[in-house]
Amino acid sequence: MSTKIKQANIKTNTEERPPVVAILGHIDHGKTTLLDYIRKTDIAARESGGITQHIGAYEIIHTTSDGRTKKITFIDTPGHEAFSQMRSRGARVADIAILVVAADEGVKPQTLEALEHIQKSGATLVVALNKMDRPEAKPERVKQQLAEKSVLLEGWGGTVPNHEISAKTGKGVAELLDLILLVSELEELRADPTASASGVIIEAHKDPRRGITATLLVKEGTIAVGDCLVAGTAAGKVKSMADANGGALEQATFSAPVAITGFDALPAVGDAFSVVPDKRAAEEKARAASLAHVVPAPGGRAPDGKKILAVILKADVTGTREALEQMIAGIVHDEVVVQLVKSDTGEVNEGDIALAKQFGAMIAAFKTKVPGMIAKLAASSGVRILEADVIYGLVDRIKEECAQLLAPQVTRTDIGTLSVLALFKTSPTGMIVGGKVTKGKAEKGVKADVRRGGTTIFVGKISQLQHNKKDVSDVELGRECGMMITPVGPLPPGATIAVGDELTMFAEEMRRQTIA
Ligand code: GDP
Repeated sequence: MSTKIKQANIKTNTEERPPVVAILGHIDHGKTTLLDYIRKTDIAARESGGITQHIGAYEIIHTTSDGRTKKITFIDTPGHEAFSQMRSRGARVADIAILVVAADEGVKPQTLEALEHIQKSGATLVVALNKMDRPEAKPERVKQQLAEKSVLLEGWGGTVPNHEISAKTGKGVAELLDLILLVSELEELRADPTASASGVIIEAHKDPRRGITATLLVKEGTIAVGDCLVAGTAAGKVKSMADANGGALEQATFSAPVAITGFDALPAVGDAFSVVPDKRAAEEKARAASLAHVVPAPGGRAPDGKKILAVILKADVTGTREALEQMIAGIVHDEVVVQLVKSDTGEVNEGDIALAKQFGAMIAAFKTKVPGMIAKLAASSGVRILEADVIYGLVDRIKEECAQLLAPQVTRTDIGTLSVLALFKTSPTGMIVGGKVTKGKAEKGVKADVRRGGTTIFVGKISQLQHNKKDVSDVELGRECGMMITPVGPLPPGATIAVGDELTMFAEEMRRQTIA
């Protein structure tokens, strides 16, 4: 650690901060068993007598072999998705990541995937060689396999801390925890309890009775009931706070995971949160965050020339919002692009309508309420709201909206040829000719290329058709007929029809383009 940081630490009020640990690895290699074992043996949890709640993380107190008691926070949401999601939002959630490898099975594809996630996240890697109670366990083979992937373990020519354990019997787990604390001390994890609190959202859901509950992982400062806070586009005021054992708390400091109520919208997992002076500051920050999504040119074209379909997405919960965002990002087309002006959870509100109007956007509301007044406001503001409660349904409708922006595809079918035999009237607005159908048929209403010597002089439309001086809808091959031809679009200078010209008559079918 640089002296600069050490000096800074002295000036401010920093204290040692418990490490935040994530457990990753191949499926069935023992992540859950290890988390369960650690949790079950935790003295604090057993003594609290509370019913264990799943809040996405828990804190344990570990007594080291040399008799010191220290806290460790475990993120108990195994699975790479959650981990990488947090990383993708720029927050380094875990300080230390334990890569669990079953010593009997060895390195598997998901082990390597997990390793990649850990390396990208910047967390310090610790390897746990699990299932050592199994007779088939071959820890040396695992160490070699990891070495082949340039992960050199301590005792195997490298520096990566590692320990052999059995998550089932618990053998080696206490030493693994000692090792984690040692790594943590070397990392010099410190934070200031008097600072304004900040950290990461590690879980969030909406409960019909209790409203929005979010689990925060405090990484700096102290958060207390009554504090105002903001996480991404969600603002709130802490109404209640509880630890993973369900115990009510008045305040919490690092690296405690706490479940709080009081957010006015569902925060996104992985978003950083921070405490702000008051509710107004929280709301302003949340609004600024939602505007950060805004496209610069309303209704215009993207820099690459594509037409823009501007959309404001409102979803019921963060999970579906994220799924929809991904699927919308997956709508790829050469001529049109969907741009999310805003993406949020909760009811469609007045602010959404104002934003939609400003940016010529439509609102896509997924499983969320559109209050009657808001629907009226939307109608009077010319803002369209698409409502759906099936993800694919909403995505398909957004695709249809994109397709509406595309020019229709025209398919042309030649239906016949007519040879001009007589000219009765010529004017730039309409020409009356007589002729004979030499191929196919003639049909009222279709278009025709007026051709001379193999080149088209202009395009006209057969606006009237007569056979034997009677109006007809079509005339068959070999018959003579009279017709009025109205030019389509401006007539090229001097262009007119003449005896001997040939009309190639064609039907056109306009089709809306679809987007796959
Ligand atoms: P996860 O998918 O990584 O969370 O793996 P689990 O924790 O669910 O474990 C998968 C299986 O391996 C379960 O049947 C566990 O009981 C078993 N298991 C986990 N750790 C050990 C261990 O150390 N020794 C033995 N023998 N079995 C274990």
